[in-house]
Order: sequence, then C-alpha cells, then structure tokens
Amino acid sequence: LQSKLPHVGTTIFSTMTQLALQHNAINLAQGFPDFGCPEELLELVTQAMHQGHNQYAPSTGLLALRQKISEKTQLMYGHLPHQDHEVTVTSGATEALFAAIAAVVQPGDEVLVVEPCYDSYVPAIELCGGVPVYASLTYPDFSIDWQQIEDKLTPKTRLLLLNSPHNPTGAVWQQQDLDALQRLAEKHSFLILSDEVYEHMVFDGKPHLSILSVPALAERAFVISSFGKTYHTTGWKVGYCIAPPALTAEFRKVHQYLTFSTATPFQHGLAGFLDNQKHYQQLPAFYQQKRDLFAQLLQPSKFELIPCAGTYFQLARYTAISDLPDVEFAQWLTKEAGVATIPISVFYHDQTDHRVVRFCFAKKEETLRAAAERLCRL
Ligand code: PMP
Ligand code: GLN
Repeated sequence: LQSKLPHVGTTIFSTMTQLALQHNAINLAQGFPDFGCPEELLELVTQAMHQGHNQYAPSTGLLALRQKISEKTQLMYGHLPHQDHEVTVTSGATEALFAAIAAVVQPGDEVLVVEPCYDSYVPAIELCGGVPVYASLTYPDFSIDWQQIEDKLTPKTRLLLLNSPHNPTGAVWQQQDLDALQRLAEKHSFLILSDEVYEHMVFDGKPHLSILSVPALAERAFVISSFGKTYHTTGWKVGYCIAPPALTAEFRKVHQYLTFSTATPFQHGLAGFLDNQKHYQQLPAFYQQKRDLFAQLLQPSKFELIPCAGTYFQLARYTAISDLPDVEFAQWLTKEAGVATIPISVFYHDQTDHRVVRFCFAKKEETLRAAAERLCRL
C-alpha cells in the first residue's frame, strides 16, 4: 500500500504521553490540564444527558450554542458573526482545521505555514493535495518575519495558516502583525486560516488580537477556537469555526461528511455556560499565575526559559544540562528525570533543532512543584 502520508508516524503527543505512563513520569508533555472543569458546566452536561439530549445534534451545531458563540464573539472582538451562516460547531479545533483546509485547498494549491507549527496542519494540507510552503518564525523571539512571508507568496497561494497565541512557542501577535497582514491582504488574494484556540491565554495585561477584530481580515478568514482549552475540557473535543457565509457554506459541506455533528450533551452544557463571562475573563490571570510560579520554581535550575506571552506552554533551553538533540533529550528527561516534555524540532518539517523543549504548565500547583523539584536536580 502506498502511504498517503509517508512522513507521518505516531504524533509526538501520543508518543510522549505513552512514555510518561510507562516510566511513571510527571506529564508536562501533551497539553491538557490535570484539574477539572467548572462544576456548574459539568452539571449542565450531565443534566442534558439525563434530559435525553443524547441523539444527533444539528450538523451545524446546536442553535443555542451558535447564538452564544456569536454573542461572545461580538463582546470580545466587536464582530458579530451570524449564527446561521457564519458559525459552525465542530468536534474540536482539529476537525475545524481539517474541514477548512479541505474546503478550499485544491490539488496543487500552495498553503503557507509558519514553523514551528502545530502538527495537524501539514498532514491535512497534504491529504488534500495541497503543497505546504514553509516560512519560519524568527529565533529566538519567535516573531513573524513578514518580509519572508511576502517573499513566499505566489499566485498559487490559496491559504495562509496562522496561529496566535502560538503553540509551541507561547508567542502572541502584536498590533504590527495584524497591520502587516492587512497590507499583504490588500495586495494578494489568499484566504486566512487563523488558529486562535488559546485566545483566552494572553498574559501581562495584553489583549488577544483576533483576526475577527479586523473586518478586512475577517472577511477572508476561517477563525477557529476550542472549548477544550477555554473550559479545561480537552477530552470533550468541541470547537468551532467562524467564517463569512461563502466560506462557511463550503466548510459545512466538508464538516457534514467528516463528522456530521458534534456530541450533543456537551453542546447543551456549553450553551448554558457561555454567558459566564467571569470564567474566561479570569483565565489570563489564572494561567499567568501558573506561568510565573513555574518560572520561579525553575529559577535555580539549569534550564533557560524563553519568555512566554500566551498559551499554557513554557519553552526552555537545556544546553547547560545536555548536548543531546531535543528528541533524545525529551526521552532521556522522561526516563531519567521523571518529567515528560515535548521536543520542538517535531514542529519543523526539517527538524530544526534549537535545543529547546516545551513544558505544559496547565497543572495543579502540586504537580508543577513536584516537576520543578525533579528538574532542579539536573
Ligand atoms: N490548534 C492548536 C494550536 C492546539 O494546540 C490544539 C490542541 N492541542 C488544537 C489546535 C486542537 O484542538 P482540539 O483539541 O480542540 O482539537
Ligand atoms: N494540543 C495539544 C498540545 O499541543 C495536544 C493535542 C493532541 O494530543 N493531539 O500538546
């Protein structure tokens, strides 16, 4: 059988979580919280199950949830997407990313991705016959080099895939990034796929700058978010896509045959909880406190931390500890030090190795303390 994805193996997230379990290591690798979601949200979901909301949801998503997503979007970004024509609920952001790519990428179309990038983007592009064109974030501050992006645009560029707050680096867009993107959009006809799943994790008093807050960009963009990140429920796999009507129509054609619809009781629960502004308004402070605690705990260690402006990931340079390549270092750290981490070379098509690993700090204080204690022994 000729593989359609010859370069793809098991994802680093499965691999490292498996290794962590095998060696009883503290898992700061795969990004997920080790604490629960709001109790009220749990109750709303279980209530929905007991009330019999256990059959297929409408393919586009429960109307009540789409309405709440529209309202929240207007509140946050001043953009009111129409619940019927511009909002689609999906089975996680992963499905939304795939559906958006499949909806618009024709065989031979170029899709510009900026590395390091989340690992589901490129396989999705390749499965659709698209050609990934790679740009890279600057090193070591991981900002976007807009000149490089412009140089890589061609008449074949169908889609520009962006992500902020950025996994794995923790970098976030500045106003100048949106300005630069707008200037490019005036000159070129690419569409935008904006992965904003960490929209509520931007620190130091800064706002998240969404593509949706710029009308000239929103009109050509799929903007994707995930309730898994915002509500500490990564296992529920509920996300959504906001896009103008023409893009949404194509998006939904794919979505209806990819999954058809998303788990019903979770949609009921989320629809009932989305008005709770307090939950997401306090999220930046909640995660900033974890970021700062983790950094403080690692102060005596030999890791050199790279500033984190958003997401729940902390990058750390380990060259004072080891000269192993990052994949080997991550394995060694899991087995020998008992802390699992993600090597970031896996987020580059050519395995660029900065000798940097990613720690997830979406963990209870006691988990972070226990991990830091082990890391400080090195
Ligand atoms: N994009 C990014 C940048 C992510 O970090 C994740 C979650 N790991 C996803 C998409 C996928 O989100 P979901 O779990 O909702 O499918
Ligand atoms: N997004 C999560 C991360 O970056 C993992 C998602 C997954 O396991 N596929 O760690």
